[in-house]
Amino acid sequence: LAAAARRPIRELPDELISQIAAGEVVERPASVVRELVDNALDAGATQVTLRLLAGGVRLISVEDDGQGILRDELPIAFKRHATSKIGSLHDLESVATMGFRGEALAAINSIADCAILSRASGINDAYLLDGRTGELKPVARSQGTTVEVKELFYSTPARRKFLKTDATELAHCIEAVRRHALARPDVGFAIWHEGKLVEQWRKCVVEGEPTDPLAALDQRLSDVLGPEFLAQSVRVDWHSKQANEYGQPALRVWGRAGVPDAARSRADQQFCYVNGRFVRDKVLTHAARSAYEDVLHGNRQPVYALYVAMDPTRVDVNVHPTKIEVRFRDSREVHQAVRHAVEDTLAAPRAAAAAGAVD
Ligand code: ADP
Ligand code: MG
Repeated sequence: LAAAARRPIRELPDELISQIAAGEVVERPASVVRELVDNALDAGATQVTLRLLAGGVRLISVEDDGQGILRDELPIAFKRHATSKIGSLHDLESVATMGFRGEALAAINSIADCAILSRASGINDAYLLDGRTGELKPVARSQGTTVEVKELFYSTPARRKFLKTDATELAHCIEAVRRHALARPDVGFAIWHEGKLVEQWRKCVVEGEPTDPLAALDQRLSDVLGPEFLAQSVRVDWHSKQANEYGQPALRVWGRAGVPDAARSRADQQFCYVNGRFVRDKVLTHAARSAYEDVLHGNRQPVYALYVAMDPTRVDVNVHPTKIEVRFRDSREVHQAVRHAVEDTLAAPRAAAAAGAVD
């Protein structure tokens, strides 16, 4: 190998740093959708509306009714490593929000034409910030935030070439929202594509009225995955005997597990959440699969939506920029919990009774 010519060490410009970060977080329009919906939920939104053009490549607009962003903070939102969610290492160790890295908006703004429109709670004015020019101007809107992302990857044509058809990209965007929707029955979601309403999941709780969270979840699971999912699954509701410092169970596992007959050839209805975050995790998938060991054979894939709640200091979500991977402090404990939760459910007489009967 020829000796490389010596080049000076230089600090990269901010824009380029963000574009590099974007490479990690933004693979396709659905990645932007996930980040923007995360932000809407972190802001306390109860209704999230997406508007897409060309599978999200031409436009992704995510509108929420959350707490909004103050005028003076709007320009900071687009800055790298700028976040309102953590301020110390201590916060990082017990993070309760979906976001905390302060990278998404900066990264997205470096590879697309972005704008934020926002009206903060308790404030009568709304402002629009142009991400490219930094121009700030007054607009009219109700409380909440809309982030608009246009012409994704315009500056990185190599990335753009990897995109699939609009229909495929749209399907990925819908899937991204679906994962959020399954975790938040208390929030309404709507997706518009090319001016047409393509998906809508209404809030499953009535404000001011007491709701049974498990019933609200059942409703959402039925709305999103179909009434068949509900009819062919049984309720999981398990908690560890060990209590945390607040006297609550240290570990909780709930949701629904499909009866063996509901198993499919593809693993496309397996949803796992940890503290409200959709995750792909080997410990959880393996634990769920092992609960079906004696009742499912060959390559049949069980269906389930499982939610794990645990002390945030016992799970590290800062493993990967997309936060889809987590690391448990005690993965054996979590594995056993999930396995028991599902096994107990499947062993219960009601589960053994014919599939098809609604639990
Ligand atoms: P992070 O979510 O990790 O904090 P982001 O780059 O996604 O980083 O967002 C930066 C900041 O912008 C957030 O911390 C939040 O204060 C603000 N923000 C972004 N989106 C919204 C929104 N929809 N509503 C209110 N604030 C928002
Ligand atoms: Mg975020």
